[in-house]
Amino acid sequence: MEKIATICVLLVIVASLLAVSSTVRADDQPVRFLGISKYYAGYSSACIFRVDDFVVSPEDIYTITFSAKSKNSSFANYQMELTSHITSKYPDVRLVVGLITNGGSGAKEAELWEQMNMLVRTYGWEIASHTKYHSLPPRSIDDIIGALMDIESNITGYRVYTYIPPYGKTSSGEARLLSQHGVRIIMLSTPIQLLLPRNWNRIHITVKISDKLPWGFFLHIIHRMENVIGGTMIIYTHATSYDWRSADSLLKSFDKAIKAVKDNKTWITVPSELYRYELERKIIRVEQANATSYIVRATKQLDFDPVPITLTFKVKAQVEDVRCNDTSLPRLEWPGYRPVPGYTQRGDILLVNTYPDSIITIILKQ
Ligand SMILES: [Zn+2]
Repeated sequence: MEKIATICVLLVIVASLLAVSSTVRADDQPVRFLGISKYYAGYSSACIFRVDDFVVSPEDIYTITFSAKSKNSSFANYQMELTSHITSKYPDVRLVVGLITNGGSGAKEAELWEQMNMLVRTYGWEIASHTKYHSLPPRSIDDIIGALMDIESNITGYRVYTYIPPYGKTSSGEARLLSQHGVRIIMLSTPIQLLLPRNWNRIHITVKISDKLPWGFFLHIIHRMENVIGGTMIIYTHATSYDWRSADSLLKSFDKAIKAVKDNKTWITVPSELYRYELERKIIRVEQANATSYIVRATKQLDFDPVPITLTFKVKAQVEDVRCNDTSLPRLEWPGYRPVPGYTQRGDILLVNTYPDSIITIILKQ
């Protein structure tokens, strides 16, 4: 009995010694890896602005006709006003637009495709398919797949990740067909997103903004909640008079919504980027090579171009330089929203944005 008691006491002493020595060791390290940030650049939550009913046919720019339930209705389209407002006033804010392609690939459409190219390349917007003809389900293969082909053949090297079904409705088999053609994300217009991939389960709610809805207060509440518990909010609308009295009321509401979420805590992103970040975050392993170097590697082959992900470190001094495979990374004054390699220090926390398969070395001031 006495023997057992002695062994127990000894075990407790050994355990406490081990605990003390490991804390001492961790605290002694000049650099300590804390983990991969849930959202790029250590933002607390994410936000996606989604706008449906963009068009590439010149005749549809100012009016767009929808046929639903054998009734045709025309709506004014404010796509051009919205595009120039966002790109000139908020060049860092990106939208995902649901594009109706209408088979558009002729000479007349060239200018509008040029604009879509610019939105993707220069501004980092995402072009999602909103089908070719905006019909109700069941849709033809031409309507569903034709739109993907229109987009991918008119925006060089672009891959469509996201499908936004018109009227928020899909028919059986549509998801499988789309996934065979590389589409990974289906966004519905109902408040709860049902068909998103499993790893998107932190999307809590979609807030629709329009002239007809009292969305301001609701948006503030959801947004504040997400910055505490983490999550992704989708703010969505149409670029047409279906939702807005005038272009002016649409633009003013965008000013209000952007002001609410541009708070240095929220990552304004687009679906495919969030999707890729989330997948990478799960397959990346970070191993310590020596006191100040870390190996970042992907445990699986990715089927897409990676985006820089954010590693968090605790550092004991001012950071002088961060090297990625022996090349200095730029110091970022403000991380922005579009993921780029670089680093930023906030007190004793160092955030490093890097691609998978790299060696990160952190140099501290002596
Ligand atoms: Zn639509």
